[in-house]
Amino acid sequence: MPRPPMPIDSNAIREQFPILSQTVGACPLVFLDSAASTQQPTAVIDAVAGYHRSQHANIHRAVYQLSQGATRDYEEARATVARFINAAEPAECLFTRGTTESINLVAAAWGRATLQPGDEIILSTLEHHSNIVPWQLAAQATGARIKVIPINDAGELDLDAYRRLLSSRTRLVAVNHVSNALGTINPVREIIVEAHAAGALTLIDGAQWVAHGRTDVQALDADFYAFSGHKLFGPTGIGVLYGKRHLLEAMPPYQGGGDMIEQVRFEGSTYAGLPNRFEAGTPNIAGAVGLGAAIRWIEAIGLEWIGPYEQGLLAHASERLRAIPGLVLKGTAARKSAVLSFVLTDPPVSTLDVGTQLDLRGICIRTGHHCCQPLMERLGVAATARASLALYNNRDDIERFADALSEIVERAQ
Ligand code: PLP
Repeated sequence: MPRPPMPIDSNAIREQFPILSQTVGACPLVFLDSAASTQQPTAVIDAVAGYHRSQHANIHRAVYQLSQGATRDYEEARATVARFINAAEPAECLFTRGTTESINLVAAAWGRATLQPGDEIILSTLEHHSNIVPWQLAAQATGARIKVIPINDAGELDLDAYRRLLSSRTRLVAVNHVSNALGTINPVREIIVEAHAAGALTLIDGAQWVAHGRTDVQALDADFYAFSGHKLFGPTGIGVLYGKRHLLEAMPPYQGGGDMIEQVRFEGSTYAGLPNRFEAGTPNIAGAVGLGAAIRWIEAIGLEWIGPYEQGLLAHASERLRAIPGLVLKGTAARKSAVLSFVLTDPPVSTLDVGTQLDLRGICIRTGHHCCQPLMERLGVAATARASLALYNNRDDIERFADALSEIVERAQ
């Protein structure tokens, strides 16, 4: 059946992002660093400003109407998150500061309470430091060991090696849905099925997925799923940890303080139910409101259109970059998101130089190890230059980026 025409009008979308109409010096801004943080549409900026202007108050504790309104907005945002990822109920969606805190929460609360000496946690070579270091801390505290799924030269997980790593000692498999450094889309459903068959739990780092395709935690059967608002067109300082109710209920609290208790006595305290048990202290209420607005915005565009649109841009950008002499693309997985990681080898130009020279032309990309030092080591490089695309990018952005790169290479010759 022929596909209906793509309803993404990138010009109309761009107009909703005030920051994109800026110039850097004399050059129009070309933003190609959405894997680090996406920009925010007016709908999100207005929702956050509206909250601050007319709804701000602390939540959950007061009887006055303003506070009750803020509580309603905060809890509505949680319900929006639950619908967005198809959680069975909002209480399974905890607000955190972001993916990093979500993973630390599981590593600290579940990990330290559950892991025993000799237990194993399986990670992958593709992980961001925030899905490595929390597990190292938990392993150091408990005597558990970390095993690592290797990758092939295209940047894809070696699933046979994964199967060989799984054993009755495996307690958890924690991998990203999409690699931030290479864009590889991992077969997380398959990974989860295999982990469960071995009796292990799973944590999926969805930081780089949620803005690019539909997330269904129940269809995935993920035990934990983590993501950040600022990579989903929302504000910084807000993120989500999804966890299955029975797992969250069995976990000790992560932090203690106000709002997470049932009864406090100096002899000992009892704790609130979900989700409050894991949300000690005053949360980022405005951030949650902004995240809810971001999700409604992306749903109105239609998640089913975003992937194909971005794939079209990726194909065009890959073709342009492959034609640049001496440019080596890192990460050529069969399934990848719109991330282009590369180095300039002939003539060699440092990634820092590439980033600086692009910035002089108004083009924002990221350079460095992308918080993936073990992956860089596997790739045999200290750093890459990384352009990452979102649905507000268009072919003009790609042309300006590729033309600028060609010019940088020519000048270096
Ligand atoms: N995981 C992945 C795959 C990421 O790309 C990032 C951020 O770049 C993180 C985790 C950490 O996210 P945050 O800094 O929002 O906690």
